[in-house]
Amino acid sequence: MKAIDILSLARENVKRLRPYSSARDDFKGNATVFLDANENPFPNGYNRYPDPHQSLLKEAIAKIKQVKPEQIFLGNGSDEPIDLMLRAFCEPAEDNIIIPQPTYGMYGISAEINNVEVIPTTLSHDFDLDTSAVLHAVKPKTKLIFICSPNNPSGNLLDEREIEMLLKSFSGIVVIDEAYIDFSDSVSWTAKLSQFKNLVVLQTFSKAWGLAGLRLGMCFGDPEIIMLLNKIKPPYNINAFTQSEVLKFLLHGKKEKERMVAIIKNERENLRKKLAEMPKIKKIHPSHANFLLVEVTNASQIYDQLVNKGIIVRDRSKVILCDGCLRITVGTPEENNQLIQALKSL
Ligand SMILES: *Cc1c(COP(=O)(O)O)cnc(C)c1O
Repeated sequence: MKAIDILSLARENVKRLRPYSSARDDFKGNATVFLDANENPFPNGYNRYPDPHQSLLKEAIAKIKQVKPEQIFLGNGSDEPIDLMLRAFCEPAEDNIIIPQPTYGMYGISAEINNVEVIPTTLSHDFDLDTSAVLHAVKPKTKLIFICSPNNPSGNLLDEREIEMLLKSFSGIVVIDEAYIDFSDSVSWTAKLSQFKNLVVLQTFSKAWGLAGLRLGMCFGDPEIIMLLNKIKPPYNINAFTQSEVLKFLLHGKKEKERMVAIIKNERENLRKKLAEMPKIKKIHPSHANFLLVEVTNASQIYDQLVNKGIIVRDRSKVILCDGCLRITVGTPEENNQLIQALKSL
């Protein structure tokens, strides 16, 4: 196995950068009078800047995820660590990244925004990772490979051995997006962080935890990678309300989250059975997520007909390997019933 030198992968300007030092960084210790940050002194719950290091939140996440706080970066949704990984490691108009398709669109958009070339490869016909195809596509300036497991929009877990082979053979960084890991029967790749220095795992509070509106994404990786992301992030990227709310959910909401996940997984299989009986449904792909990718007889027509009944699904029929497919999020039992009734009535 090759040795990975994180700093040699990072952009020169990022390595050189001396990050902005906030008022809360310059003074550490106990005090009662804070006249250092030009805040409004009158308390209203939010007159002070939030903790730029999100220490309490990271401590709580570290316990639940069984990682060290210095292996955690927190972002304004997963979108922020996706963007910061590109900015930390990819020289615009010079370096490139590989994205096996079809998958989540933000990796490619974020790369385009940063003027970083995307080399697309294709997943196998059953949406699994084809590691030899990916390795074939690697060029000298390939810095990152983005994969998603369970994958969006297909719902499947990627093969563990293929991912492990990728981690062992690629001398850049492999980012595994686990936004849907709580709906799967698999353990997280965070368990392998100490084994692979070039492994970065993304998770989010937007799906299983039910906190999409708060915008909190988690990024787990080697402390050297996390340090680089911290260096280039906006100082107060996680607002005070999000920090305290998510902390509350972590400390008191784990049971409720598990209850919701159990219902959604059960509903996913109910929905699968009912859809399978319908003549309009040609194929339902296996899913370890909170959605089903479903091949139908006439995707755009069925999409429009559902819209007319006030039910919105995602038309993925123009996406590579997803011909004729709709992606249907698992809703509440009532919502799923409405979907089934609507489909029956078309
Ligand atoms: C929904 C989703 C996310 C979540 O993004 P946030 O910015 O954290 O809300 C991340 N990755 C994938 C693949 C998703 O489908």
